[in-house]
Amino acid sequence: MKDCIFCKIIDREMFAKVQYEDDNCIAFDDIHPKARIHILVVPKKHIPTIADMEEGDEKIMGHIIKIAKELAQKNGCKGYKLMFSVGREGGQEVFHVHLHLMGN
Ligand code: AMP
Ligand code: ZN
Repeated sequence: MKDCIFCKIIDREMFAKVQYEDDNCIAFDDIHPKARIHILVVPKKHIPTIADMEEGDEKIMGHIIKIAKELAQKNGCKGYKLMFSVGREGGQEVFHVHLHLMGN
């Protein structure tokens, strides 16, 4: 998707500190961390918001939750928050679905 910064990170047109990648998702450090560990877990499919999820997308969304859990364990987080911002009114700034993993 043209002009999407997370698609550019996926395509390596923009730099990010990548923590994990597979065929369906990528996870990288948030550029403005709000916790010791603040990683964004992002499906490679360009889904703008949770509100745009289509039939079948629940598989990739379940997968990114699993990857967030594994990254939290790998980084020694005892507890953490997982969060989606949905829509401009929900505080979403980047319109490519991403799961915030925030842990200390
Ligand atoms: P949201 O408000 O849920 O859309 O969150 C967007 C998040 O993306 C914010 O926490 C930003 O700090 C983060 N962000 C924006 N641009 C980049 C980037 N180039 N690399 C890493 N994180 C970014
Ligand atoms: Zn995108």
